[in-house]
Order: sequence, then C-alpha cells, then structure tokens
Amino acid sequence: MVSAIVFDLDGVVYLGAQGIPGVAGEIARLQKRTKVLFLTNNATKSRQSYVHHLARYGIKANKNDVMTASFGCAHYVKEKYGAGKRVFVIGEQGLHDELVKEAGAKIVEKNAEFVVVGLDRQVTYEKLDKGLHNLVTGAKFILANSDPTLPREHGASPGSGAIAAALIYASGKKPDAVIGKPSVYLIKKLLQMHKVKPREAVFVGDRLEIDIRMANEIGMKSVLVLTGVAKRSDVKRAPKSDKPGIVIESAAKVGKVIGI
Ligand SMILES: [Mg+2]
Repeated sequence: MVSAIVFDLDGVVYLGAQGIPGVAGEIARLQKRTKVLFLTNNATKSRQSYVHHLARYGIKANKNDVMTASFGCAHYVKEKYGAGKRVFVIGEQGLHDELVKEAGAKIVEKNAEFVVVGLDRQVTYEKLDKGLHNLVTGAKFILANSDPTLPREHGASPGSGAIAAALIYASGKKPDAVIGKPSVYLIKKLLQMHKVKPREAVFVGDRLEIDIRMANEIGMKSVLVLTGVAKRSDVKRAPKSDKPGIVIESAAKVGKVIGI
C-alpha cells in the first residue's frame, strides 16, 4: 500500500527554470490517487514561496505539502533551544522568513547565538567574515544542508555545503546540526505532519548519497531518477546504504513502477 509519494525537487521535478518533461502531468495524475508531497534541501525559499514556485511548472500544492530545509532549520532551533533566539543568517529570503515566522528569531549581525547557513547566491566575503566571527565567539552552527552542488540547466553550481565549507575550514568547527537530507529530520517531520508511516511511503530523488540514503535509512521505498545528478553507472558503485529500490529514467514514469 502506498499512502504517499514524496518528490525531491531539483533534478527530479525541474532543472533550474526548466520543468522536466511529463513530470507535472504525472504529479497531477498521482494527486487524484494518493497523497503527493515535496521535500527539498533548498533553503532559499519559504514553504509559501514554493507553492508559487511549483505553480510556475504547472504543479498545484499547498503549503503543508511542502517541506523545505528553511522551515526545518526554524523548527529545529525552536524545538531544541526555544523561540526568540538571536540568529546570524547566510542565506536567502526564505531562510530569513521561516526563522522569523516559525522560530520568532531576531536576525542580528553580531553577538548571535546561532549562525544558520543555507544556499546564498549573494554570498560575500563580508558575510563569511561575520559568520566566522559569530562562530568563534560561541554561536552554534546550523547548516540547512551539506549539498556540495546545486544541479542547474548548464551543469552544477556551488551548493550550501560549499559555502559552509569555507566557514568550517576557517573556524575549525563542524556544524552542530545539518538539517537537510541525508539527515532524516525533514522527512520524519513531513510524514508525521501527514500521519504517514515510512514503510507506506515512496521517495523519488536524484542523488544516491542524499535522497536514497535518507529513504533507505527511514525505511521508505526509494526510487532514483536519472534526470538530475546520479547516472546509471553510479548505482553499481554505490554502497548498500545508497542503493535505490528502483531506477527509472524520469519521474514522469513513477506511477507505473509503483503500481499507481
Ligand atoms: Mg535533487
């Protein structure tokens, strides 16, 4: 029995501004038959902005169907340390918005209790400098995700993990928490919100060491698509923890292989 299908976004539903052919149509078809959810390591947008973003590719979703690393970072800080903390952010608007809205965070430049890092396409030396200063003066280090790259139409661009690497190297500190996949924090939260058990859910992703590892660890059925980062030849070389249950060319065909 499949109670929910959870789609990764980058490399599965779209590549940059380009929707992957047939995926929006397949999602609309599946939405009539089961719960369709979305989970992304990307922390540049809030859940609400993702609803608008998905609409651009012809996909209907509501806010609660979407789990992002931005929402996850805010909840992690609030659950573990409490609301209203002073936070320095290297990241984009969505990360700021969720930290303020969901965790009541005060966004500060210095004397931060937390440095939260996500993908920031306007990252500067000055931001890294402030991040480093806050870390060495005792702030906790929360990383939205450790993705080395971000798949785009023209190839890979530096990801949030690449930005964090500069701070890790400079400060000699490792992140206190990494919220995004392959950590199971986001998927656990999403499935709990929808009262779905992992063994009744399917995860569709494009990265073996991120998506498939997470799905295998939590006990979901894992489907690898070849429209993003992983190639068929990578599957053979992958350790057991990262081996997908099913490999298909594109998420446009996912219903067929899981019998929906
Ligand atoms: Mg992906």
